[in-house]
Amino acid sequence: MAEHESLEYGKADFVLLDNVSTDEFMANLKLRFEKGRIYSYIGEVVVSVNPYRAMNIYGRDVVEQYKGRELYERPPHLFAIADAAYKAMKRRNKDTCIVISGESGAGKTEASKYIMQYIAAITNPNQRAEVERVKNMLLKSNCVLEAFGNAKTNRNDNSSRFGKYMDINFDFKGDPIGGHISNYLLEKSRVIFQQEGERSFHSYYQCVCVCVCVCVCSSINDGADFKAVADAMKVIGFTGDEIQTVYKILAAILHLGNLAFGVDGDVTLIQSTELVSVIRELLSAKEEHVEKALLYRTVSTGRDVIEKEHTAQEAGYGRDALAKAMYERMFCWIVGRINDIIEVKNYDARVHGKNTVIGVLDIYGFEIFQNNSFEQFCINYCNEKLQQLFIQLVLKQEQEEYQREGIPWKHIDYFNNQIIVDLVEQQHKGIFSVLDEACMNVGKVTDEVFLQGLNVKLAKHAHYTSRKLSPTDKTLEFDRDFRIRHYAGDVVYSVVGFIDKNKDTLFQDFKRLLYNSSNPVLKAMWPEGKLSITEVTKRPLTAATLFKTSMISLVENLACKEPYYVRCIKPNDVKSPLLFEQERCRHQVGYLGLLENVRVRRAGFAYRQTYPRFLQRYKMISEFTWPNHDLPSDTEAVKRLLQGCGFDHDVAYGKTKVFIRTPRTLFSLEEQRVDMV
Ligand code: ADP
Ligand code: MG
Repeated sequence: MAEHESLEYGKADFVLLDNVSTDEFMANLKLRFEKGRIYSYIGEVVVSVNPYRAMNIYGRDVVEQYKGRELYERPPHLFAIADAAYKAMKRRNKDTCIVISGESGAGKTEASKYIMQYIAAITNPNQRAEVERVKNMLLKSNCVLEAFGNAKTNRNDNSSRFGKYMDINFDFKGDPIGGHISNYLLEKSRVIFQQEGERSFHSYYQCVCVCVCVCVCSSINDGADFKAVADAMKVIGFTGDEIQTVYKILAAILHLGNLAFGVDGDVTLIQSTELVSVIRELLSAKEEHVEKALLYRTVSTGRDVIEKEHTAQEAGYGRDALAKAMYERMFCWIVGRINDIIEVKNYDARVHGKNTVIGVLDIYGFEIFQNNSFEQFCINYCNEKLQQLFIQLVLKQEQEEYQREGIPWKHIDYFNNQIIVDLVEQQHKGIFSVLDEACMNVGKVTDEVFLQGLNVKLAKHAHYTSRKLSPTDKTLEFDRDFRIRHYAGDVVYSVVGFIDKNKDTLFQDFKRLLYNSSNPVLKAMWPEGKLSITEVTKRPLTAATLFKTSMISLVENLACKEPYYVRCIKPNDVKSPLLFEQERCRHQVGYLGLLENVRVRRAGFAYRQTYPRFLQRYKMISEFTWPNHDLPSDTEAVKRLLQGCGFDHDVAYGKTKVFIRTPRTLFSLEEQRVDMV
């Protein structure tokens, strides 16, 4: 527990509150925010409030203060848990992960960058060139990913529109030797449509800004960013051709956006034919191929292959799908290229010892917009999964262990959101299943049919409703809306576009067009374009299925690591450094389960160890146990040892393990041990 700070800043650890009530919690959080103390602890969980101003607390001098220290020795800081995760990795050979959660604009991405910065700063004391190279690339990759994956939204001027999980690999010396980035569901619909007040991905404005001067957002300097991104790509190792191809694709997408279709009689026409030449050139395709792919699609009837002309509406749909798909594919390709370069190669465990990892998860936060669609639905489902993991790891396991060990324990109630996770992902009954089923239907499938399916399957579900099920609820539109009661609040989703976004169809003709490009970089992004129409047999997996699968594997991956948590809170909706909006914050504290977290922590124990292993480590401290004890059991020996040191009041004895309440006791044991050895 961090007790060293003056109380004028409030309690550094919420565990030290006199009474665990929402009011006291809020008062302490507010006081600390107003005193410029943006970080606090709940045990080992960092609670962070976005300061919305530059803080002078991330410099080299501060890094030095945290390096190698114990968590409770210094005021709360991200650096402290970064250090804790690093120590666990280095000293105990544990794979660890740092999970950063909180709603959009709460400060997750900034936190992840400070954590990476800290790890980079404390490693490689010997300045090995190869390690420096890896560190530089890991840091530079952020800049590139943000350019292509972030955008201004109404919540955040630099909002991550994709989920990111980055593993950093370390060698036996504890120096970074590589990494791997996993990206999750890019919000590609942003390429063709943005809500009022929002922008498309930064990359567009950076690219356009170099030619004409348009700076739409005051907090963003697109021109300077363009240069930084291009430089970063070079440093990482993208070739000149690759970088050029990326900008050509961006330009092609921009021109596609201006392409309009019309009709003459019953023939569909491209209205702006001069654009086709420009696009053709950018994509290094053949002119007639571009035109044909935009106006026709090849279909196989089983016996014959025929060319079917698009209606103007279909052609518009195809154009939009192409723009989105090109952008998404390019983004995934960029991530893949970065991975090729930063991934650990030729690691020989026999020579180098165990290769351990620290994972940092920065994923889109819970989102409620004016209009919530398929993307928000996926994002919010993802947050449900992470909350479930938090419950499993922090709340549930903790309580279960005390019960198992027979330690007196008052059960603490918390809301278990498993029911909402099931509502979304359960086989057959879950929303994703109903959606996939609707998409499998041949014949006319509409978003309304999907909604009807939900209304039948989920009529009795406590967390689901729609106008059909609650006819008097005027906030819901018939045949359009459904509402989910999420752990973080109610969200109304409009089903409009769910079917299309889930099917995520891109006509095979476009894939072939891009595969046949004479630009080898572009060609390589579209390997499936190699197949001719008669060879394409498998229906591609739906967006929902892909997302669900990736979320399940993410959670499995996190669950097998030692987790550290950062819980981010957004103090207000106007990006003000001065305003602490009580109700907004109270709501977040509520759904993040922070109060329950304090209760479990207070009732709980910071450290636990089996009796034999405890003795192995500390037996030299006591005359009763050194070098061997003659007591009837290890349990008795540990009791005798701890009584002798005067720590009896701070421990509990379980069936197989000894539990120590405060870290300070453990710290003191460690010191005595060091004095002896
Ligand atoms: P999230 O990833 O949770 O959506 P960000 O990390 O992008 O949110 O933070 C949103 C904005 O808030 C940042 O662009 C920055 O202006 C501000 N901000 C967040 N954390 C900090 C911090 N530690 N210090 C200063 N400003 C911050
Ligand atoms: Mg972010």
